[in-house]
Amino acid sequence: MALWITDECINCDVCEPECPNQAITMGEEHYVIDPRRCTECVGHFDEPQCVQVCPVECIPVNPEHVESREQLALKYRALQSGAASAAS
Ligand code: SF4
Ligand code: SF4
Repeated sequence: MALWITDECINCDVCEPECPNQAITMGEEHYVIDPRRCTECVGHFDEPQCVQVCPVECIPVNPEHVESREQLALKYRALQSGAASAAS
């Protein structure tokens, strides 16, 4: 599953630089996660990095984006190959 940020977010800015997939950006009122880029950190870390650093615990899993670990790994590989072709 991708994760999402609830409106309890206090815009403390600490999660955004921790995301290895650049999935977190500032939304209209608070930070948001792009479910197309969030792999729950699969491929990079054992634990979701944003959840680790968030001081108000406002980053639950997104029930609208249920994905298996395999799907998350596929997304990770797709993002990596996209990054590789963008860099070349
Ligand atoms: S779980 Fe990982 S990939 Fe998803 S938004 Fe958080 S830091 Fe980024
Ligand atoms: S760490 Fe939590 S409170 Fe801070 S900006 Fe990210 S989601 Fe919001």
